[in-house]
Formats: sequence, C-alpha cells, structure tokens
Amino acid sequence: MANLIKILQLYPQELNVYGDNGNLLVLQKRLQWRGFRVKIIKHEVGDKLTTKPDIILSGGGQDSNQDKIKADLLAIAPKLKEWVNAGTPTLLICGSYQLFGQYYQTGDGQKIAGTGILDLYTIAGKKRLIGNTIIDSKKFGQIVAYENHSGLTYLGPKLKPLGQIIKGAGNNNRDGLEGVFYKNLIGTYAHGPILAKNPQIADFLIKAALKNRKLPTKLTKLDDHLATEASVQASQRPR
Ligand code: GLN
Repeated sequence: MANLIKILQLYPQELNVYGDNGNLLVLQKRLQWRGFRVKIIKHEVGDKLTTKPDIILSGGGQDSNQDKIKADLLAIAPKLKEWVNAGTPTLLICGSYQLFGQYYQTGDGQKIAGTGILDLYTIAGKKRLIGNTIIDSKKFGQIVAYENHSGLTYLGPKLKPLGQIIKGAGNNNRDGLEGVFYKNLIGTYAHGPILAKNPQIADFLIKAALKNRKLPTKLTKLDDHLATEASVQASQRPR
C-alpha cells in the first residue's frame, strides 16, 4: 500500500518523558495532512519485532526505566542495527540515544549495556543538566528544545554530531557538541517534543522514509507559522 507509512515506537510506556510522545503525533499529522495513512507499531517489552518500519522513534526515560527495557532492547538490537544501517530514518531522544551506544553508566555506577549500534558511550555526571537549549545544526539550522539528563555522552572519532550547542550543555557540557547524526539516524538530548518546534526535522524523516520506499519525496508545504512562533518564543527564554 503505497500511501501507508509504518512508524515503530519503542517502549512507549517506559521511554516517554518531557513530551517525547508528541514526536509521534507530529509525524502522524504531517503525514496525514499530506494524504498518507499511518500505521503505528508500539513495541513493548517481550513483543516480537517482525514488521520492517519506515520510521523508528524512541523517547527518553529515567535510569530505572532504561534498566527495565535493557534486556529486550539487546534482544531486538540485531534487527534495529540492520534497519538503521539500511538508512531507516530514526529519531532517538536522550535515554534511547544513550542506549543505542556502547553503554550508559548511571550515577550509582551501574553499567547498562547498549546496543552498540553507535560508537558512543555515556557516563552520568554529578549534576543533572536541565534547561532550555539551542543547537546550531548545519543540516537543520537552529534547533530549539529542552534537556534534562545526568548522562555525559562522548562520540567516537568517526561519528558526526547533530550540531553545536549554543545554549545548554549538550552531549557532555564540555566539547560543545550536541547529539549525533549517522546515516538517517538522529540521536539527541532534545526533548520538548523536538519535532513540534522544529518541523524541518520531521520533514527530513518523512522524506527519507519516502526515498527508501522509492516514492516521490516532494512534500506539500504546510502552514508552520505556529511552530515557527513557538520556536522563536522558546529561543528567547532564559536557560
Ligand atoms: N536517565 C538518563 C539520564 O539521566 C536519560 C534521561 C532522559 O531520557 N531524559 O541521563
């Protein structure tokens, strides 16, 4: 069915904080407003992962919830790796971004093994990094969001960041980088949800999905004045 787009949402119960579920709604609406039908596949712990999705979404979560899903995530990692490396557009927020790396070491020293799909690792710092953020991205321009994490993430030598952190801590409050951009995968500490105030990223994910399906990628222009206004307002907020 040419106009059916399948979106896989990983662990919607455990990994969904600071509005992350809104990313699914934004994608769903921007597809439906352009005449596509959307099938949402919610993957919960213990579910079989059978259907190859067109887009993968996964949100953030507390250390305890990352711990709850870790074994299931490792079990489905080979399929996720195959899809990510085949260019499936993927958006990973905070706790998910961390667990697609080698590992996340929590504040109490527990090492949660990651999928290893991305050459990065995360170690929790002493203080939580909380507040409004602005990221400057070559690919997406200015990105306005919110972060709330203790993890400090370090990218491997070959990985490219999503952008430079202009306001906020970003990956590790030290190297000035934010997130990761690998094939059609975006990993970031940007909550909000990120897609509501930065619809250009949603359209990137949609276009990549259509390209993979060998469908026309020219998208009808939508009226984004509210998203733009929200982004401007948020960018003027204090940290
Ligand atoms: N638990 C992780 C941390 O504190 C991720 C937090 C989140 O997803 N917001 O860094």
